[in-house]
Amino acid sequence: MCMEDGDGRRSRAMGLICLGMAWMAASAQTPPVQVPTVQAPRYTVVVDAAHGGDDTGGHSGTQSGSQNGSWMEKDTTLALSVRLRSLLAARGIAVVTTRETDTNVDRVRRDELANHAKAQACIILHASLSGTGVHLFISSLAPAQPARIEPWSTAQAPWINRSLGLAGALNSAMQHAGLSVTLGRTALPVVDSMACPAVAIEMSPKGASGGSDHSPIDSLNDTDYQARIAEAVAAAIVEWRSAGSDTGAGQP
Ligand SMILES: [Zn+2]
Repeated sequence: MCMEDGDGRRSRAMGLICLGMAWMAASAQTPPVQVPTVQAPRYTVVVDAAHGGDDTGGHSGTQSGSQNGSWMEKDTTLALSVRLRSLLAARGIAVVTTRETDTNVDRVRRDELANHAKAQACIILHASLSGTGVHLFISSLAPAQPARIEPWSTAQAPWINRSLGLAGALNSAMQHAGLSVTLGRTALPVVDSMACPAVAIEMSPKGASGGSDHSPIDSLNDTDYQARIAEAVAAAIVEWRSAGSDTGAGQP
């Protein structure tokens, strides 16, 4: 019906008829248009439970699991990760974990997961029988301007200032929770290759100031102590988010 004439033109009348027919056909067949809703940008946190599988991390010597007076770092980091993940998820934060079970995830894979997530914060969890309280570490790399192509081994360099900001939020939250906390800088290859605000958190026994006469192993296996630390980290992340750190995710 709506054909062009021999010169490739339609008469005006025929054109109007064709337009009308097309409109009617479209009205009859086109489903209601979905108006796209504007979604808030996803706020993502990477939680990296260090060690796992045959990499126990620190241990108490017996290596028979973290119970009955023995301890392995890989169990504490996973327990903290599981707690933190659920606390963050309950606050509407998307969480990417590097492991969910007692498996060994290599360093490059951890960094790949973190960098692919374009996270607003990366939290790396360690634990130690030595020292007391909570130790916060950021990379010892010198701050650098963002480059078009960032070397993998120094991907953290443009993020140092934001990592310092995140460490400050964590420090405040730990103090607010009554936890003993120290801040430091160290060379941690897994952190050095992360392109996100990144802080390594090392849990040590409560110590005398923690009001506990538990042994260091009991202290690290203490689920209440683990919960206090995880809750302080979650509170810090919420504070960090409200401070506007979600602008420019993926950009230093
Ligand atoms: Zn460790």
